[in-house]
Amino acid sequence: MISKEEISGTIKRYRSGKITIGTICSHSALQIFYGARQEGFKTIGICTPDRRFVYEAFRYARPDYYIILDDYKDLVEERFQEELLRRNAVVIPHGSFVEYVGAENLKKDFHVPIYGNRSALEFEGDRRKMRTWLQEAGVRVPREYQDPSEIDRLCIVKFHGARGGRGFFVVDSEKKYREKVEIGVKKGIVNESDLEKRTIQELVVGVRYYPQYFYSLMFQGEVKAGEGRVELLGVDRRVESNVDDLYRIPKPEDSPGIEPSYVITGNIPAVLRESLLPRVLDLGRRVTEASVKLFPPGIIGPFCMETICTDSLEFVTFEVSARIVAGTNLYPGGSPYSCYLFSEPMSTGRRIALEIKEGIRKKRLIDLVS
Ligand code: AMP
Repeated sequence: MISKEEISGTIKRYRSGKITIGTICSHSALQIFYGARQEGFKTIGICTPDRRFVYEAFRYARPDYYIILDDYKDLVEERFQEELLRRNAVVIPHGSFVEYVGAENLKKDFHVPIYGNRSALEFEGDRRKMRTWLQEAGVRVPREYQDPSEIDRLCIVKFHGARGGRGFFVVDSEKKYREKVEIGVKKGIVNESDLEKRTIQELVVGVRYYPQYFYSLMFQGEVKAGEGRVELLGVDRRVESNVDDLYRIPKPEDSPGIEPSYVITGNIPAVLRESLLPRVLDLGRRVTEASVKLFPPGIIGPFCMETICTDSLEFVTFEVSARIVAGTNLYPGGSPYSCYLFSEPMSTGRRIALEIKEGIRKKRLIDLVS
């Protein structure tokens, strides 16, 4: 892992008035660039040649500079890292950033300061570590089964890494499990190494909500956690194909129906019953406190909890995203929650820039990067 000492040395060499914000042109990059610009930062878009026009098409969100490369994995090459360092860059790791560059590369070979805690990405990328984190937080999680022979109810079978739900399937017995694995392997959706790392999880019945949080070290107040506060910046729901529209397709009599799939295609906004806010704020607080304990200084900046709210109004958390999530793209002009926290329209992208700006002002930027 790149050491804190090394990053600290880099930050000391940076010209604090010339810090730039960079990320890969994908996922939530438009929001990140737009927000950074609102807070007065210059931005760097790391981009493949075919994508550049997309970012040029949005005049207020396009980056000020580009680093053009053919393959995002090449970002660890010295010449690209040199350019980022020369421009005093702080890089924002979004979901595609981690996916494209590779968690291992980021951990060992990427010397440019990253906003947030690199260890958080490790906890996010490993379902076992994530479960330890959620259990440490004392939040409700779905029951898990080590062996298919233990399956005694409706379960969802999931695979490691950010694959957007691809290949997941639902079973209610060991027999069904084996049948569906065979089909998955035949279709090439599931391979041997996926199966070694699969998770069999109770399928929780309820409705999904994805609260988006921000752990701030620079601003104090409720909800207190660690050495700062946790903010609720928004809530969304994911739209998954085909499960979310299956109800529209009639099931002919005597037919087994269509197999549900869970591939993420988009997001829609949501607000919660106000009486649920104590629980949702408490979830964010607990997960932050546990992160401070497990991987200090904890989950710096944005994170999201993937929850299911049951009809007894309990939240069951099945996953945490330890960085900005694409669901925040719904709120570039602020959300029904962020407007009660900030007097200006505050997206998560802008919130990151605001925190960095405050870190620079307080000469504490090093506390926000790794
Ligand atoms: P994940 O990759 O864990 O975010 O899961 C992708 C999708 O699968 C989620 O957005 C849910 O729709 C569904 N899902 C995952 N885990 C569960 C669960 N334990 N119970 C019900 N649905 C789930």
